[in-house]
Amino acid sequence: MTVIRSLENVDYRCDQCPGRPDMVSDTEAAATFGLPLEALHQMFNSGLLHGVQSPEGKLLICSASAAEATGRLKQMDSPSGSAITRRKL
Ligand SMILES: [Zn+2]
Repeated sequence: MTVIRSLENVDYRCDQCPGRPDMVSDTEAAATFGLPLEALHQMFNSGLLHGVQSPEGKLLICSASAAEATGRLKQMDSPSGSAITRRKL
């Protein structure tokens, strides 16, 4: 028996991140981080942030990865292009 519950009322957690942060819907993430929904989808598609897509086609975004990705975007936006490359790859 398969039961597909509405995503709205389910507490999803990211199992790719330490601490298992919350997963939020794309609309919620966009509102939280002040991004257009399109930009959020682009970031997801380009791998800047991660999440899962439900069978209904809804996107759930890992809040930690969204915070990290938007933090990076803000850094890239900053005009003073000083040593941002602290992150080791
Ligand atoms: Zn995550």
